Amino acid sequence: MSATIVYGVGISGRGAAEVLARRGQQVFLYNDSPATIPEELEKSLAAVGGGLVCGSENYPELLAKAEQVVLSPGVPCDIPNVLEAEKLGKEVISEVELGYRLYGGHIAAITGTNGKTTTTSIVGAMLERLPVPSAVGGNIGAAMSKEVEKLPQNGWLALELSSFQLEKVTTFAPDIACMLNLTPDHMERHYTMEAYGAAKQRIFTQQKPEQVTLLNYDDPEVRSWGAKAPAQVCYFSRKEQLKQGIYMQNGDFVIKWKDTEAVVCNIKEAQLFGGHNEENILAAIGCGFFAGVSIEDMADVLRRFKAVEHRIEYVETIKGVPYYNDSKATNTDSVIKALEAFEKGHVILLAGGHDKMTPLEDMMNLVKVKCDALILLGEAKERFNEAAMAAGVENIIIVQSFKEAVEKAYELAREPQVVLLSPACSSYDMFNNYPERGRTFKALVRALPH
Ligand code: ADP
Repeated sequence: MSATIVYGVGISGRGAAEVLARRGQQVFLYNDSPATIPEELEKSLAAVGGGLVCGSENYPELLAKAEQVVLSPGVPCDIPNVLEAEKLGKEVISEVELGYRLYGGHIAAITGTNGKTTTTSIVGAMLERLPVPSAVGGNIGAAMSKEVEKLPQNGWLALELSSFQLEKVTTFAPDIACMLNLTPDHMERHYTMEAYGAAKQRIFTQQKPEQVTLLNYDDPEVRSWGAKAPAQVCYFSRKEQLKQGIYMQNGDFVIKWKDTEAVVCNIKEAQLFGGHNEENILAAIGCGFFAGVSIEDMADVLRRFKAVEHRIEYVETIKGVPYYNDSKATNTDSVIKALEAFEKGHVILLAGGHDKMTPLEDMMNLVKVKCDALILLGEAKERFNEAAMAAGVENIIIVQSFKEAVEKAYELAREPQVVLLSPACSSYDMFNNYPERGRTFKALVRALPH
C-alpha cells in the first residue's frame, strides 16, 4: 500500500492525517519548517507506519513512498515541492477534496471574499433545525475531513470555503454552492483577479444539473458566472426584485422560486444590520431553503442570530452609548461596510494597528461623513492621521495605548453616538491576532464605569 502525504501542519492538515490514519491509511504529516503535533496524533500515525516529517531535505524520500498528496489550505499550489509531486504523477488534492471523497452526505458550501463566516454560521444554525444531524466546517476553523466523520449519509454540512481550499478540488460537487462576492484579495497567492475568480468558481464547476448554485445578482462579476454554472442557478439580490430568486422588498426577505412564494421575515426583526449582512442573510436563506429548512425555522434563526464574535459585535451600552467590536475589520473595505451599517452616523471610531499600507482615501472620505471623532492608535496612527486630515476629518485624537483609546472614547461619547472599534489594520503591532484584540477591547469596555 502506498502512503499519503498530508502537507502542512495546520488545523486541516492535522485533521486530515488523523482521519486517514483512523481508516488504516499510512500517512506522513509533512511540514517544511519544524513543527510539533499532539502526542495522541503522533501515536495514531505511528500505528499505521507513518508519522510527522519536517524539513525539505526529507521530502524526496517521502514522495517516493507516496501516491497522493493532500494540501492544507495554507500551502500554495505552485511551490517546488508540490510541482515536483505533480511531475512525478502523484495526485495532489486539497483537504476539502479529501473530505468530500470521504463523505456521502449533503453539503451547503459558501465562498466569497467577505461574509463567509457570518453566512456559514447562519446556515449552520438553520441546518440544525432539520431532523437530521448537521455540522459546520471548513475555513471556519474545523477540518472538513474531520467534521464529515460525524455525519451520516443524510446529514448536512455547512462548509465555509476560501479560494485556497478550492484550488485543488477535482470532483467536489456540493448540493448547494453559494458565491457571495468577489473583490481584490489574496493577490500574493493568486496573482490575478482571473486566477482568484477561477479558484472560486471551482465551488460549482463539478455540480450536477439537479444541484443549486446561488449567486449574488448585485455583484456584476459573480452574476456573470451564472452562464457557466452546470447546476440550476438561483440569484439573490438586495437591490432588485427578481422574477425568480431570493430578494428584498421593503425590508422583507422574499423567496420566489417555482411554486414557492414566501416572506421569511423583515430585516427589522433580525439582530444583524448593515447592507453587507442583508446580502449574507439572503445567501443564507437560499441555502436554508434548498436544504429544506422551513420558512418558520429560518425566520426564527434570523431573529435569534447575533453577530459572529468580532464582526460588528455588540458589546454593551454604557450611559446610553452602545459599543461595538469589529476587530475582524483588518482592511479598509471592512471598515467602510461597518460605517455604512451605522446609517445615522455619529460614530466614534477607533482605528489603527499594524499598517497594511493600502490606500485610505475612500475610507477617510466616509469617516468624514459618518464619524464624530476618530481615535487613532498603533503603528499606523501617523499615516492614518495624515490621510484623515487630507480628507477633512476634523476631530482626530491620537493615543499611545489601546487602553487610552477606549478611555478617550468613553470620555467623549454621548447619546446618540456609538463607539466602534474597526481598525482597518492587522493587530500584530500590539496583539497576537484580531480575536485577542477584540477580546481586549471587550474587557476594557466592560471595565468602564457604568
Ligand atoms: P469572512 O469569513 O469572509 O472573512 P466574515 O463573516 O468573517 O467574512 O466578515 C468579515 C468582515 O467582512 C465583516 O466584519 C464585514 O466588515 C465584512 N463583510 C461581511 N459580510 C460582507 C459582505 N457580504 N460583503 C462585504 N463585506 C462583508
